[in-house]
Amino acid sequence: MKPFIFCPICSQKLEPAVLEERNRMLCPKCGWVHYSNPLPVAIAFTRNTNGEVLLIRRAHEPAFNQWALPGGFIESSEEPHEGCLRELWEETSIEGSIESLVGVYHRESTMYGSLIAIAYRVLACHENICINHESLKRDSTLPTACLRSPFPCTGRLLKRASPTAEEAGYSIGTAESVRVVRPPSDSAK
Ligand SMILES: [Zn+2]
Repeated sequence: MKPFIFCPICSQKLEPAVLEERNRMLCPKCGWVHYSNPLPVAIAFTRNTNGEVLLIRRAHEPAFNQWALPGGFIESSEEPHEGCLRELWEETSIEGSIESLVGVYHRESTMYGSLIAIAYRVLACHENICINHESLKRDSTLPTACLRSPFPCTGRLLKRASPTAEEAGYSIGTAESVRVVRPPSDSAK
């Protein structure tokens, strides 16, 4: 992400400064400091009652056409778990309930800079999937690619959320556009 050049408060050109032993950009007129903090993202590791995991294929950059877990930026005044369920609903029309926290992960995005991803296990309340503009309808590769995702935290997250998935791989479930996949260890039951 490009650094700020002008102050967003008063439009003065920013100047480099060392503050708290870090290089920052400072407004010499009003004192505004550009702190480079990570943006919070919520991710939904969503399963149905059969233990099948929901993946989407992204329709936008970053990671266009790649498999990913539903999720997105948490809005101001929103609890992280609320953002998680909202993003899930916006992207897939699936309503879910939070089961537990999977973990909190850091990753660098060329588009958005530093991100903190907060991932929850979510139980899908139904399977009436309707994708929005953020997901693609076409579909050709196996979702095991998700373990080599351009999002480095996705593979770690999947392994943490479903420890058998990486050794077992995934088999394909149903749906044209949004894949529901089931680890073979589960499907054998
Ligand atoms: Zn200023």
